[in-house]
Amino acid sequence: MPTPYTEEHDLFRKQVRAFAEKEIAPHVEEWERDRTFPNWVFKKAGELGITGAHYPEEVGGGGGDYWYSVVKSEELVRCEAAGVTMALLVQSDMATPCINELGTREQKEEFLRPALAGDRIAALGVSEPGAGSDVAGIRTTARLEGDEYVIDGSKTYITNGTRADFVTLLAKTKPDAGYGGISILLFPTDVKGFGVSKKLEKIGNHSSDTAELFFDGCRIPKRYLLGEENKGFYYLMQNFQSERLIGSTSALAGARRALDRSVAYGRERQAFGKPIMTREVWKHTFADLYTKAQAAHALCYDAVADFNQERYVKKSEISFETVKKIAMCKLFVGDVTSEIMDTCLQFHGGMGYLEELWVARAWRDQRLFRIGGGTSEVMKYMIAKIMGW
Ligand SMILES: Cc1cc2nc3c(=O)[nH]c(=O)nc-3n(C[C@H](O)[C@H](O)[C@H](O)COP(=O)(O)OP(=O)(O)OC[C@H]3O[C@@H](n4cnc5c(N)ncnc54)[C@H](O)[C@@H]3O)c2cc1C
Repeated sequence: MPTPYTEEHDLFRKQVRAFAEKEIAPHVEEWERDRTFPNWVFKKAGELGITGAHYPEEVGGGGGDYWYSVVKSEELVRCEAAGVTMALLVQSDMATPCINELGTREQKEEFLRPALAGDRIAALGVSEPGAGSDVAGIRTTARLEGDEYVIDGSKTYITNGTRADFVTLLAKTKPDAGYGGISILLFPTDVKGFGVSKKLEKIGNHSSDTAELFFDGCRIPKRYLLGEENKGFYYLMQNFQSERLIGSTSALAGARRALDRSVAYGRERQAFGKPIMTREVWKHTFADLYTKAQAAHALCYDAVADFNQERYVKKSEISFETVKKIAMCKLFVGDVTSEIMDTCLQFHGGMGYLEELWVARAWRDQRLFRIGGGTSEVMKYMIAKIMGW
């Protein structure tokens, strides 16, 4: 596969790598214990141009293509805590792409520019206690009263939820109209009636905060509606593509790193008088896993090339063919990275089960990938639907 990268991409890769290894990695033990990390990480990522590298210069971005975002997702994993990586990717690739695509000039200045600079923290508010995979089942409502929307409802599992300055929020503007009655609103969290009902305890991604939010008669100006009213479901499906693709490249980069580190360990670790890596069973196991990782990489880069062509070159909508490819990436990467992480843990024996080794965290952090941003079952459902079955 020809490399899509230029010298500028390579320089950017070095910069993100240095940020992850030197500025984040030394703190992650503490942040994992604290179940959060400080806000300066968003600010620093913004200042270094990491968050906005793939956004236009007019909104404070670096003017780069989507490959910059791929580079970022691959290098951030070197910080050794998927929770921090996920929080930063929510800020750059999950809560904000739709503002760039649909926002008015004022909305971009008020929400997007400060998010890319790391001055305002963003969250994406889709999932609810009663509706996750089935987005059309959300119950949060936004009722227009004069020049204001009145918002009532709740959201759950929201990454960055305890500290977000704004939420890119999905709400029903026409409660009986199913998919056609949903809108996206930009919701500033300093509004009366809004609150965090619970910070959720998770089995992994500990340094990322995840929250349940409530909205009780919250009033926001009508100008915070993103795009057209009642088109939110369609907009969200477009927005999800960046989330799923960048999640895939990041999860895969983490797993490939785990493979390299495990093989290095196995060359040193002796059992029955020989390094465990000299055993045929492990050589074959790792040969299989490297092959699957390479296949997943090819699948991802093929989808990124199409996504980049449609979104950044032609500036068009994302085609069904690309949506299908992205669903395939998320599905396949989910399975391959699960297998890789589980094998890497097993390969470390008892050490693999100890908190003091990197592999335990990498294993439990990876598990989220088959759930968050659309489950593996939903990816299969989408692939089947696009195939016309
Ligand atoms: C740590 C974490 C962070 C998250 N961050 C965010 C965030 O920032 N913003 C946000 O909005 N959401 C976030 N989520 C929510 C996440 O996107 C949802 O958990 C996910 O989409 C699944 O929804 P659900 O949990 O309601 O599961 P459900 O939809 O209840 O699914 C339960 C099971 O049923 C299966 N299922 C559902 N539909 C079908 C079907 N049609 N066919 C076959 N099987 C099906 C699912 O695959 C799953 O196995 C986060 C979740 C976690 C755990």
